[in-house]
Amino acid sequence: MQRAMEPTEIMHRIREIADAEDVPVLGVGPAGMKDEQPGYRPQDLIPGARSLLCFGIPVPRGAYRPAPYSTETVWRSQNLYYRRLDGLSVRFAALIEETGESAVPVFGCYPLALNGKDGVLGYLNQLRMGEATGIGSVGRNGLLLNARYGARLMLGGVVTTASLPAFRRPESEEPGCPPDCQICVEECPVGAISVDKERVDQQRCLRFAAKAPLMPKLRYLLLLKLRPRAAERLMNLTAMDEHTMHVCSRCVSACPYGQDSWEPAFRR
Ligand code: SF4
Ligand code: SF4
Repeated sequence: MQRAMEPTEIMHRIREIADAEDVPVLGVGPAGMKDEQPGYRPQDLIPGARSLLCFGIPVPRGAYRPAPYSTETVWRSQNLYYRRLDGLSVRFAALIEETGESAVPVFGCYPLALNGKDGVLGYLNQLRMGEATGIGSVGRNGLLLNARYGARLMLGGVVTTASLPAFRRPESEEPGCPPDCQICVEECPVGAISVDKERVDQQRCLRFAAKAPLMPKLRYLLLLKLRPRAAERLMNLTAMDEHTMHVCSRCVSACPYGQDSWEPAFRR
């Protein structure tokens, strides 16, 4: 019988893969996230969850530069990265199971769930996973801010019953938004980012920014009332990845976090 691998061996292997795959940001921490709503905590995804792994790859800064095709460039970059990150999440989860424990990949965007109040959300909040593993802090724009890559990181993750040794790279302070910065609040064209409420109105943002022309809206709204799980599946089948384009990313492009100078990166 093949022996189970030790968590330290697994982490060594994960770091090797991350190096080979040019994944610059990687963190491991305990599966806390107690403030998440019931049904969307690590222990809801996998009973007995003990550790979180979260990692990130930055979209190039130039993709967000105002240019004739920047929306399309960001759209394509993000969709390629979702696949790459999701693939790595599955690979890392399978590797972690070599310890004899269980592991579940946490995907970057789709598939999404409908929670009945605030609308769509992932099965586990990757942004909070990023905070829990120390690789960044959630900013006023609702995104994970990282000292080196600002708001441009796209994330992958795993939740597992294995007890993995804590790890973080790069080592950086993550102080979060300066108290007086409101650049993303001012840049948002629909007022979805509020300083006072310290949250992003996700529905307001999505109504403006998400274009999913293949999604049959009427059928979706009908199902939402009658059979929410069927509505969820319809959304995941018709709006997934390339089938949705986000036509606004001003809260990313304008955010100066992680820049050498405290100037907006690219203002439109
Ligand atoms: S993506 Fe655009 S609409 Fe949505 S919160 Fe950011 S700036 Fe506002
Ligand atoms: S623009 Fe300023 S307030 Fe908004 S997320 Fe970036 S650092 Fe925070």
